[in-house]
Amino acid sequence: MEAIEWGGYAKTIILNPADYDGLEVHGVRDCADEFGITDGTACEVDDDGNPEFYSVYAHLREGGLECIGDFATGVDAVAYGALIAGEHSWPLDIHAKGICTDCGESIEGGSQCAGCRSAEGVRS
Ligand SMILES: [Zn+2]
Repeated sequence: MEAIEWGGYAKTIILNPADYDGLEVHGVRDCADEFGITDGTACEVDDDGNPEFYSVYAHLREGGLECIGDFATGVDAVAYGALIAGEHSWPLDIHAKGICTDCGESIEGGSQCAGCRSAEGVRS
């Protein structure tokens, strides 16, 4: 199994931003071993289980997703997703369970970490 190169590569994927309408963060597992792939990686979305890492996907207007970055932690994935989403005024949907939908921090339950929950409480 080849090592995954962490980081975002939206610029090489999103050549025509008008083709896309949003970003999603998913938990992902590398299934290369399962599939018998030895010369690359095969990634499978695993939002509910125990993802090995997190990927940011761009959602195509006509349907489908294209991966624009792989990250070891939810925090890094959400940060990159928010950056690219901000550049294009796209929504960022966090589909991976177990990470805060605001900052990507690992959480036990719910959708936000304690820090973001209390920050929200202060805002409202
Ligand atoms: Zn948070």
